Amino acid sequence: MDAEEAIVLYPSPAIGHLISMVELGRLILTHRPSLSIHIVLPPAPYQADATAPYIAAVSASTPSIAFHRLPPPPATAVFPNSPHHEMLMIETLRLTLPHLRRKLQQIVSQSAAVHALIVDFFNTAALSVAAELEIPCYNFFTSGASCLAFFLHFPTLHGAHTESFGDLGRTTILEIPGAPKLPASEVPKILLDRNDDVYRCFLEFTMRWPEFAGFIVNTFDALESEAVRAISAGLCVPELPTSPLYCIGPLIGDGGARKEGGGAGSDADCLAWLDSQPKQSVVFLSFGSLGVFSREQLREIAIGLERSGQRFLWVVRDPPSGEDKLGNSDVLLKDPELSLEGLLPDGFLERTEGRGHVVKSWAPQVEVLGHESVGGFVTHCGWNSVLEAVRAGVPMVAWPLYAEQKFNRVLLVEEIRIALSMVERNDGSGFVEAAEVERRVKELMEIEGPGELVRRRMVEMKNAAEDALRNDSGSSRVGLVRLVDSLTCQRVRDSGKP
Ligand code: UDP
Repeated sequence: MDAEEAIVLYPSPAIGHLISMVELGRLILTHRPSLSIHIVLPPAPYQADATAPYIAAVSASTPSIAFHRLPPPPATAVFPNSPHHEMLMIETLRLTLPHLRRKLQQIVSQSAAVHALIVDFFNTAALSVAAELEIPCYNFFTSGASCLAFFLHFPTLHGAHTESFGDLGRTTILEIPGAPKLPASEVPKILLDRNDDVYRCFLEFTMRWPEFAGFIVNTFDALESEAVRAISAGLCVPELPTSPLYCIGPLIGDGGARKEGGGAGSDADCLAWLDSQPKQSVVFLSFGSLGVFSREQLREIAIGLERSGQRFLWVVRDPPSGEDKLGNSDVLLKDPELSLEGLLPDGFLERTEGRGHVVKSWAPQVEVLGHESVGGFVTHCGWNSVLEAVRAGVPMVAWPLYAEQKFNRVLLVEEIRIALSMVERNDGSGFVEAAEVERRVKELMEIEGPGELVRRRMVEMKNAAEDALRNDSGSSRVGLVRLVDSLTCQRVRDSGKP
């Protein structure tokens, strides 16, 4: 790439974060094609090189995006022994800061100007490197604005309580400006135990968030109007000014990672199967890039689906083995040669043949949700999945599994009202019984009943998403213009080149 004006993006090492950053880079280029986008890739603690084909495909299709890989931390590095895979990621990123500094210096020396560094959630420590090099640093928050409101308010919440949120449980309701009333048990998983290293880490991170030059969020005003209003009015961080908020969504990926990553080869089968189904008749079950269930839970889902009598398309993965904890699995690398017969109840596949279709490991979710045969979505509430459902106008059943997904469930069910809740057994195990699966799937798909309201609300949100993306006047288009103006008008660190 020649010496050009540049923006540097620095995602944390997980495929979902990388895809979101690539889409953000592409979006910025739609408004300012003359910019060059540099995506710096930290070493991956667990996802090996699953991203290589995806990166090659993006480089080929979008030459204005250049990728730079950083070397791994020294072999002698000692990593924390935490039950949270996030700690491994944060520590890897901390150890990588010197490499990031060198790479930024190199990009600065080769560019006419470097306007900004955009990092995500786990990369807060990069603020120091950006400040040292006098490059304005922005936070690309990959969940919703309501969740951002929660994290901005987190240091205040921490100060207001002495017990862990996990111990406060469902009966203590947290009041957060811009967010729905939140039972303490539903905070993002990493914040349940205040004595945990990962909790302390996020407390330190969020205390530094006022240092960001701005927050970029993949959402749109009409979806989360309360949160947008509260953050913009500075209500979430009462003591300090809040940096500007830029809502630029819904920004939806093209599913290219999987297509380029190779694997199942069943995308066409699954879409062809949908072609043979009646309009809006199929419920789609898919649980993000990391969602896995135990054998017992898989069987329970199967029984519930069968009894519901509804048509379904279900993405099934290998249950986790002892070492393959949730969060350490890498579905992009897995060869989906799992034996469905061994996992599902005897005769399930034969009995549901024609009205049900099971996909191993991965489905082309964006295309599936956009297919006219799909009328409902059972989701783990990952933010990308939520936005993809909104864009396609498909109502949801919310079944959160990890990260901030319980928070998202409260938002989707109680506030936006575009999802029904899957209710887990009341013993803290998270287990969902077959009867509950059967009930919720029926409620979602049947013409009359609770599904009716969420279907209607979803149509409103789908239309609002279209309005937000309308050229020139849409709120997210205006947000993008404001963002790019802000990025390129910032004080610029240049190399001294003419
Ligand atoms: N996805 C997909 N097929 C699958 C499972 C997931 O295409 O079988 C995509 C999905 O469309 C979404 C992303 O993977 O874009 C998952 O992101 P999300 O934020 O929903 O959840 P996460 O994986 O980060 O928990």
